[in-house]
Amino acid sequence: MSYVAIDIGATNIRVAVGDYNGIKEKKVEKTDTIDGAVGVSAQIVRLIDSFGIEEPISIGIGSIGPINHAMGIITNTPNYPFNNIPITEPLKEQYKVPVTIVNDCTAAVLGEQMFGAGQGIENLVYVTISTGLGGGAIVDDNLLLGKDGNAVEVGHFTLDPESDIICGCGCRGHWEAFSSGKNIPAYAEKLLEKNDWRKGLLFDLSGGDPKKLKTENIFEAAKKGDKHALQIIHEIGLKNAIGFANIVNAYDPELITIGGSIALKNPDLILKPILENIEKHTINRSPEIMITPLGQDSVILGALAFAMRI
Ligand SMILES: [Zn+2]
Repeated sequence: MSYVAIDIGATNIRVAVGDYNGIKEKKVEKTDTIDGAVGVSAQIVRLIDSFGIEEPISIGIGSIGPINHAMGIITNTPNYPFNNIPITEPLKEQYKVPVTIVNDCTAAVLGEQMFGAGQGIENLVYVTISTGLGGGAIVDDNLLLGKDGNAVEVGHFTLDPESDIICGCGCRGHWEAFSSGKNIPAYAEKLLEKNDWRKGLLFDLSGGDPKKLKTENIFEAAKKGDKHALQIIHEIGLKNAIGFANIVNAYDPELITIGGSIALKNPDLILKPILENIEKHTINRSPEIMITPLGQDSVILGALAFAMRI
């Protein structure tokens, strides 16, 4: 008998079995984006069955948001092609065990507290900088959920209401629109419009077409010292510093850990500008801010922690 933990991402889906000692076995696939709103739950059932376990004790899910925690659905995520995706009901019907879905970062912050850098800490926030940007918070040892389960949608903090950068959710100047993997290229293109960038690595990597810039090109060029790429990273860093400062002002955490593929692949380029600029925007005492030691497993470890709490 094992607990089942699931991490539903816009790009990858991870399914694992585990217990209080952590993950015993894990499988990763690209998230189904072709079989409509029911494709993801069918994919999850197939993955769970592939472990060959008799029956799960319970199933915990950390998912891209926004979600409706009570209805067990993913509602209208900007980074996935379908809306109102049923998750918990198909799994309850299939396995007849308790199933719960929480926002992925809500799961991750619980995972950080149970398995990672947050052990013994009662005030902590987890931020993911990945395809999208999101957060989860524990305040006074209480995990924040909110009325629908979206209490810490920090990626949709408005940083600049007059910006011409539009978020995937449709709003203007949201944090995620500047700093997440999916949105960095469009922001970079805007920044490059103001500069003559027709020389250097970034120009070469994109073939001279700003519309062909990829997020990984920008970080790669920055690591090699390309000045235009470094300028873009600096601007993103300034936006991140404001976002993190808003978190510090709102939740007064002792620790913030950062995960997500953009941060995990580029820890120094992400962390340094935040640490250098955050205090320009905070009133509260600064917390420790670090890359999560749990790497790619923070959400799924959180989903596991949730499965054991049901
Ligand atoms: Zn938004």
